[in-house]
Amino acid sequence: MTAWAVLVAAGKGTRAGFSGNKVFQRLGGKTVLSRALEALEKAEAFEGIVLVISKEDEAAYEDLKRDEGPFERVKFIAHGGETRQESVFNGLKSVPEGVELVAIHDAARPFATAAIFQESLCLAQRVGSGVISHPVADTIKQIDPETGRTHTPNRSELRAVQTPQSFRLQEILRAHSLAAQEGYTGTDDAQLYEKYIGPVRLFSILPDAYRNIKLTTREDFLRFQRPLFRVGTGYDAHRLVRGRRLVLCGVEVPHDRGLDGHSDADVATHALMDAILGALGEGDIGRHFPDTDDRYRGISSMKLLKKVMDLVRKQGYRVENADVTIVAQKPKLLAYLDAMRLQLSAALDCPAVNVKATTTERMGFEGEEQGISAQAVVLLAKEDM
Ligand code: MG
Repeated sequence: MTAWAVLVAAGKGTRAGFSGNKVFQRLGGKTVLSRALEALEKAEAFEGIVLVISKEDEAAYEDLKRDEGPFERVKFIAHGGETRQESVFNGLKSVPEGVELVAIHDAARPFATAAIFQESLCLAQRVGSGVISHPVADTIKQIDPETGRTHTPNRSELRAVQTPQSFRLQEILRAHSLAAQEGYTGTDDAQLYEKYIGPVRLFSILPDAYRNIKLTTREDFLRFQRPLFRVGTGYDAHRLVRGRRLVLCGVEVPHDRGLDGHSDADVATHALMDAILGALGEGDIGRHFPDTDDRYRGISSMKLLKKVMDLVRKQGYRVENADVTIVAQKPKLLAYLDAMRLQLSAALDCPAVNVKATTTERMGFEGEEQGISAQAVVLLAKEDM
């Protein structure tokens, strides 16, 4: 089977309230259009893509191709018409003759999955059409425009229809030509197919179809642009013993005793790592760096923090801010706090790091100088989806 895609990106985006075409708006660091193109390329079934954009946007597309491209699967550019229907027709006319199947897709739906494209094409090959849809959650009312009377269709019989909509190229071309001749306008390509060719075959893949939303209003954009936050806390305590160095937040502090432990026993960095792992939902440092593992004997906790930060990046997060409190009766830490903050700031790749110290006025194990404890709280932010 040979399949092409017609990607329609010729809208004005007026409903989204942007000055220009909404498909050039960024969503988590990437434009909607390049997300949609990537989704098509991931589907792998398409030999080529016809991109339909308005003449005014051609320069913007060339810029995008340079910055986020190269979009090698895009073989032809077609120009948008007065209506979406005209734009699609222009796109269809650019698909090479002899191509069997075509998937028509709106660039404003950048979350369509490879599974959706595959099924859409498979159905089009088997039965002539494949249109993604999903059951509706809301009760739908139909209003008679004359009388204002409402009618409630049976919700179980209703489907919300999206794109991609795939067809045999010759059939959908015929439907579009006939509609153009008669001046008939449908709200989607499936409606033209229904009128001139026959009933369409709907399918649903959940939850993919629920996520395959059309970015229409500014609120749709805000929903995806809002960063996702994760918060975590950490606590640790180590015993003070003779013959050990005292290391806090990667800084060696002169003292007659140091903290006991398997690694360098940097209690403050341990609390911070636990806070980060907590925010990621990744358990605790005991799970990642067990003290039965000889690789971690005497290791600098700053090295372990680096490994924790690798996990943060792997999951698409960054540290938004971190706050560490060290509880120690002695030594006085004030003179070292700045150095500690700089160490952590560099390790976390984050300027908003705070390190503070307090005593417990001689109460408890910290007050009696049996040990030092530390607490940390960290906020991670994710901007991408
Ligand atoms: Mg510890």
